[in-house]
Amino acid sequence: MFMISLPPAFIERMSRILGNESEAFFEALNSTSPATIRLNPAKNVYPLPFSELIDRQVAWCPEAYYLKERPVYTLDPYLHGGAYYVQEASSMFLQTALRQIAEDKPLRVLDLCAAPGGKSTLLAANLPAGSLLISNEVIKSRASILKENIIKWGYDNVVVTNSDPSRFSGMKGAFDIILVDAPCSGEGMFRKDEKAIEEWSENNLRLCEERQKRIISDIWDALAPEGYLVYSTCTYNPGENEDMLTWILDNFTAESIEIRHEYPGITNTPFPRGYHFYPHKSAGEGLFMGVVRKKDGQPFTMKKEKRVSQNAIPKLPADILPLLPDTTNYTPYLAGTTLGIMPSRHAEFIQYLESKVGVIYKGCEIGESVKGTTRPAHSLALFHKLQKQHTTRQEVDLPTALQYLRKEDIRFEAPRGSWILIMYKGIALGWVKEAGNRLNNYYPKEWRIRKF
Ligand code: SAM
Repeated sequence: MFMISLPPAFIERMSRILGNESEAFFEALNSTSPATIRLNPAKNVYPLPFSELIDRQVAWCPEAYYLKERPVYTLDPYLHGGAYYVQEASSMFLQTALRQIAEDKPLRVLDLCAAPGGKSTLLAANLPAGSLLISNEVIKSRASILKENIIKWGYDNVVVTNSDPSRFSGMKGAFDIILVDAPCSGEGMFRKDEKAIEEWSENNLRLCEERQKRIISDIWDALAPEGYLVYSTCTYNPGENEDMLTWILDNFTAESIEIRHEYPGITNTPFPRGYHFYPHKSAGEGLFMGVVRKKDGQPFTMKKEKRVSQNAIPKLPADILPLLPDTTNYTPYLAGTTLGIMPSRHAEFIQYLESKVGVIYKGCEIGESVKGTTRPAHSLALFHKLQKQHTTRQEVDLPTALQYLRKEDIRFEAPRGSWILIMYKGIALGWVKEAGNRLNNYYPKEWRIRKF
């Protein structure tokens, strides 16, 4: 019956939990994972990516679609321009949860285990106006991928950090919502990722449970009174799921929160309230989510001496200014030779954050100061509020777009010495500069398409 080779103890446990549903469950583990994309609402593409492959919307996330088959995403310039994010469908249930818990006021939200950025990109696009998202990843190499995906997504309300959860513990009451999408035993990924099966062991389940408890203990103080902890895993192991919620309720002052929904394919646990996605019941991978609300703690206070000094704020260069939206809501910053902007409403908090954790990206980097001039940053090209009408633009066809994304030479006539924004079907991909008899390709070397 099992084409993929599953650990016997896993088969035994799932058969016990699912009873007469278990056959359908194991059958689903042998089927192909559905392909899904979630659109970037700020980048507004038309026609939709892979329009000929679109099957139907994801019920719990209207910005997302199932595709009839899995395309080669890498060869689609829209992906590199941040027009959509490739994310498995169950994870998008976060949007349903968020709609209920995010009050309509500016919030500070921490996505603690954020790489590669699926849930962070969803959060950045769906938080109430004026909110700030701190997107953290502890593993350095994964934090770089997270930064890349956040830059492609093109929002100015995100700070990317690379720190251990314990570094946030001193920031008492700082966050209205903390998402812990925990490192876990990954049983929900068995059909997508054989490595998850290879790494599975009873001992590893215990290690995951211990690590999850440590992570939650580390960040609990950073959650504001009445703030929400959204906890999720991509495993079926109760010890990492409902038992973890029970452990939170037993060890901290918190209440279990219902995520109201009307999707019959989701299995609800009555108490503590939790939501299971099983592949035989809804099209997507295995996922568990639960929300608790903190019922004690002190409101957040920031020390006065952390205020941003007005003298430290650089002036924005006159040639860059027209490319930006109304700058009165932004605070410019200079980090080495990198010039950027961050939302003024959060500038003090971001400075405070920098004193506590490793910030690797904030707001939107807009340029690099080189010999008295400002070279536009790649992140500026991908910024969804870039005032494109004030740029020199060149729309290119698919082969040229791919050449550009491979960082190869491309050619067209351009005004002498100008910076040109490369566009593919209305989506910005990056910059080239006219340099006499050639165009210099400024696509970031480390992001270039290598295979194919
Ligand atoms: N939220 C991500 C998304 O939607 O794209 C997926 C996160 S993945 C399930 C869990 C993440 O936790 C991984 O990126 C992993 O590197 C990170 N991680 C591993 N050990 C950790 C620890 N001790 N503390 C915090 N995060 C950890």
